[in-house]
Amino acid sequence: MTTNLAGKTAVVTGSTSGIGLAIARGFAGAGANIVINGFGNAADIEKERTAIESDFKVKAVYSPADMSKGAEIAEMIALGEKSFGSVDVLVNNAGIQFVSPIEEFPIEKWEAIIAINLSSAFYAIRAAVPGMKKRGWGRIINTASAHSLVASPFKSAYVSAKHGIAGLTKTVALELATHKITCNCISPGYVWTPLVEKQIPDTMKARNLTREQVINDVLLDAQPTKEFVTVDQVAALALFLCSDNAAQITGSNISIDGGWTAE
Ligand code: NAD
Repeated sequence: MTTNLAGKTAVVTGSTSGIGLAIARGFAGAGANIVINGFGNAADIEKERTAIESDFKVKAVYSPADMSKGAEIAEMIALGEKSFGSVDVLVNNAGIQFVSPIEEFPIEKWEAIIAINLSSAFYAIRAAVPGMKKRGWGRIINTASAHSLVASPFKSAYVSAKHGIAGLTKTVALELATHKITCNCISPGYVWTPLVEKQIPDTMKARNLTREQVINDVLLDAQPTKEFVTVDQVAALALFLCSDNAAQITGSNISIDGGWTAE
């Protein structure tokens, strides 16, 4: 059964690249009007916006909200409601990473990761829930990570933020359980995004390895299938969570990680 989002509006944060872009296009393919968000070159973002409109015959607007700023996040939700009359689906996806031993971890990087990867979801959910409650339907999906379940060294801020978003997901799910609003998080392992792809040539050079060695022994060391998750697989899971068949899935943390967290 396909998911029909015709007449609904989805806000997808961090949708100018990678996973968020695939989710935005996947939801537009199901008929939703879309609020895209994220950083990038203005002309590229406008191209993405118009492509969504022409490929899927829906409407799309761009919110430049910075996910580290609470007031701008509330404006993003208001933009969706003003442009399309409602925000029915909220995907908190924007995220950044920084890797460092804890004693040298730059304080401003800690603050930025907690703000963008965790607090932004709080601000967006807080702003979107009144409208969802009024209409008696909603879907909140948070892009967490395998790092919401397990840790890796040198990623203290990222792992803390992702564990935090898993807790926020459960709390919000319980609060909204009788309102026909579900809240879940998706926890990918390594996803094949431009970000990951760009690291390969440099790592080949730095470690004197072949492309296959970099992929299997460095990047996919933690992933038993030795295959990347694709952005379209994540988008398909997000879309399923919007379907009627997923109405009883709430407060869940759904892994899509090639077996990483089974070990
Ligand atoms: P990406 O770098 O391709 O995309 C990140 C998006 O967030 C971009 O659109 C960027 O502009 C936006 N963004 C960053 N800072 C922002 C800010 N302050 N305000 C607004 N937008 C901002 O990364 P991705 O791989 O697609 O990651 C998306 C999400 O998936 C993140 O939450 C990430 O932690 C999570 N994730 C990614 C992987 C992976 O392997 N790629 C694995 C697990 C979880």
